[in-house]
Amino acid sequence: MTVDSMYQEIILDHYKNPHHRGLREPFDAEVRHLNPTCGDEITLRVQLDGDTVKDVSYDSEGCSISQASASVMADLVIGKDLASATSTYDEFLELMQSKGQLEPDEDVLEDAIAFAGVSKYPARVKCALLAWMAWRDAVGQARGEVGESTT
Ligand code: ZN
Repeated sequence: MTVDSMYQEIILDHYKNPHHRGLREPFDAEVRHLNPTCGDEITLRVQLDGDTVKDVSYDSEGCSISQASASVMADLVIGKDLASATSTYDEFLELMQSKGQLEPDEDVLEDAIAFAGVSKYPARVKCALLAWMAWRDAVGQARGEVGESTT
């Protein structure tokens, strides 16, 4: 099995059996992000518990890459503290901007390494990043709303 077909397997598997899908309560912030070039949509909720990402739930429509990416992202950030979830986000962003030049670190990115091949196709990079951008936005809003008053 080649690396590319292994990556395709991972993406297809998450697409067919998405993890953590469905909108859940309670949540601190909800965002809706669109990728008009492909027609992908995601509604995403984040619940924080102090500095921990307690839950990420989402409802999404679109291509297999955007759907699989939401599933992989939720796996990677739920239960992590914000600092390490954000550094995973940064690493994924860097991978997606690498145009296929970066060797992904499986210890950090786990199944997200499967999107390394996608980074060669600028039109699809937005599909892979949609859920991550939504997560980042929701975390920002959640922190703005919850803020110092509860901590
Ligand atoms: Zn797409």
